[in-house]
Amino acid sequence: MSLASGGKGTIGAKALIPGETRPDEDEREWLPVGHRSRSPVLTDAHGRPITYLRVSLTDRCNMQCLYCVPPGPRSYAPRSDHLTNAELVRVIQAAAAVGFSKIRLTGGEPTLRTGLIDLVRAITVIPGVDYVTMSTNGVLLPRLAAPLRAAGLSRVNISIDTLSPEKMHRLTGGSLRQVWAGIEAAAANGLHPVRLNTVVLRGMNDDEVPDFAALTFRFPWEVRFIEMMPMTGMLDLARRGVVSSAEVRSRIEAVYGPLEPLPELPGNPARSYRIPGASGQLGFISSITEPFCARCNRMRLTASGQLHLCLLHDDEVDMRTAVRAGATQPELEELIRLAVWRKPWGHGLAHGVVPTLRQMAELGG
Ligand code: SAM
Repeated sequence: MSLASGGKGTIGAKALIPGETRPDEDEREWLPVGHRSRSPVLTDAHGRPITYLRVSLTDRCNMQCLYCVPPGPRSYAPRSDHLTNAELVRVIQAAAAVGFSKIRLTGGEPTLRTGLIDLVRAITVIPGVDYVTMSTNGVLLPRLAAPLRAAGLSRVNISIDTLSPEKMHRLTGGSLRQVWAGIEAAAANGLHPVRLNTVVLRGMNDDEVPDFAALTFRFPWEVRFIEMMPMTGMLDLARRGVVSSAEVRSRIEAVYGPLEPLPELPGNPARSYRIPGASGQLGFISSITEPFCARCNRMRLTASGQLHLCLLHDDEVDMRTAVRAGATQPELEELIRLAVWRKPWGHGLAHGVVPTLRQMAELGG
């Protein structure tokens, strides 16, 4: 499949029919056979069920997106700080035992992780883990999509911020040809439905919004437009660059007419729409202008083993020290319950409270 051709996808064994509402990963009936969660549901102090763990496999990346990583030389955690695969599996086992049923592997760039395929295989068989997905820039998927699928990975979100090769190089240091090959590899290997993540930045790629939306006529994919978040080192760019979802939507409607709203799915931060007649769908993630904190169901684990309780706060709980001190599985579970209980309510961006501890590349989006 090339940039100029279309394709029809499948989800598990089910054919994806153009016009059909695609399922979200939270819809249990779509789960891979034998993977339905039996774990209890854990709620935080605000009554939110917390079931989704985003696991950063590395803080290293093979791209340098200018909204994600500050310019200049990068500093990384020493590799000895990173949880080993065995340590990571122990933490995820404890998380699954207390109620985390969906795991997303992210980074940095998760496909750079040594032993990735074995790690995915080990995570997918953990009791209570229903779904393992990945956020990636796609560059290594031509080689990895088939073994990842075989290891049990369900689907991928692929970041792509422009359809211009020259602009791709300027925005990310990467190659559009390689990213597109990764998207094709994901689609060809059943990592469906493919989702494309596009951070919209004023004066950089906002002119391409209708072109991204047009992809949904040609492919049964979901194109998601993301508002840029003001992470550490990114405040100025976020101030200048953020384009609201409302504006992105109206730019699409100016070309294609009113969008058709699709049902809201639990735990999905995106508001979903379809251009009438398109086979794919559009999603809008409005972290800044319409925060979805009341529906937040997620926590993050850094590659160095810190449970990060909210993307836009600095609160963390140290799992690595506990694992390396020989904590038992019940002790790890108790630590995770405590972390969930301490999860902050909402973010303070409107009052000027911004995170300072970690870059997005450490947290994985
Ligand atoms: N390397 C992988 C990738 O490219 O998807 C995973 C890590 S990346 C940090 C995960 C997601 O975070 C990507 O979709 C990226 O576009 C998004 N992201 C990074 N910085 C962001 C920011 N400041 N605001 C909003 N999204 C951001």
